[in-house]
Amino acid sequence: MLLFRQLFDPQSSTYTYLLADEPQGKAVLIDPVFEQVRRDAALIEELGLDLVATLETHVHADHVTGAWLLKRRTGSKIMVAAASGAQGADRYLGQDDVISFGRRRLLVRPTPGHTSGCLTYVLDDRSMAFTGDCLMIRGSGRTDFQEGDAAALYRSVHEQIFSLPDDCLLYPAHDYRGLTVTSVAEERRFNPRLGGEIAVGDFAGYMKNLRLAHPKLLDVAVPANQRCGQPENEAGLGAEPNWAHLRYSFAGVWEIDPHGLEEHVGDIQILDVREPDEFTGPLGHINGAVLIPLGDLGERAGELAKDKPIVAVCRAGSRSAQATAILQQAGFTEIANLTGGMLRWRAEGHPVEGGSG
Ligand code: FE
Repeated sequence: MLLFRQLFDPQSSTYTYLLADEPQGKAVLIDPVFEQVRRDAALIEELGLDLVATLETHVHADHVTGAWLLKRRTGSKIMVAAASGAQGADRYLGQDDVISFGRRRLLVRPTPGHTSGCLTYVLDDRSMAFTGDCLMIRGSGRTDFQEGDAAALYRSVHEQIFSLPDDCLLYPAHDYRGLTVTSVAEERRFNPRLGGEIAVGDFAGYMKNLRLAHPKLLDVAVPANQRCGQPENEAGLGAEPNWAHLRYSFAGVWEIDPHGLEEHVGDIQILDVREPDEFTGPLGHINGAVLIPLGDLGERAGELAKDKPIVAVCRAGSRSAQATAILQQAGFTEIANLTGGMLRWRAEGHPVEGGSG
């Protein structure tokens, strides 16, 4: 079975696509965004997937790719178009190349025009295609910078994308209105730039007069993407918390497991956010825990020290996850949630003060 997720970066309105062959768990990620690597890696880990490759639809001008960072974290192979001019990839792709993940495959169709190295990735059964900035939902990529060429883009769309089956779903690299998916039949009929009876000259005229602003990140993003997202200076990359072994969840919370908490119990503050009767109730509490019920935390956060990491605890780990968000708003930086709360802490046999059994 195919696992499919469409992920969004609000800063650049970029879509990142995760595809995986479920029973084997082999996955690929199309157009990952540098700033979203932590999120994407969390999802891949939670779903138990093995990221075999990151694929670029093109050298982007509006965001930096997460390809290099993901390779460093997961060992995934970096794949880009041979025609992109990018350095440092593991594999350079061209016409009819096949990318395998488990028993599924993506096929490469060059679709130049937005840039000369643009690729469209077509799923093996032709039910889905990832069109990058070539064909977008009722739109197209711009053709006024990098190696943009309106006539080439028109040919790419008509020859390489409109030749796919009518019901093939098309997923673009961006959408600025929140639209998520379209189909070949729909775009062939309704695309205002490229559909219906529109000829190449009409399209070129349309594109010449788009009057788009110069992309803000062009001068930063293009050189970085020519290096597949490898930063010029890697010194600033040590931003992961190192006060304990933490795991970042796809829900956006730093988590610590009971074993990790017990290792550090002496040098962190344990914040229990349950109600007083739970704190003294049958589940007991962790030795040295400070009790501030979640409803009071906003007002009483000042009672906690800022120079010592905090682990929030509750019954099952959900109220305490909310507590980490409140603490973050209050300016605390070293915070984590005890995964599974007191229930898991007890189930794994860690010491409890008070409580029964
Ligand atoms: Fe682009």
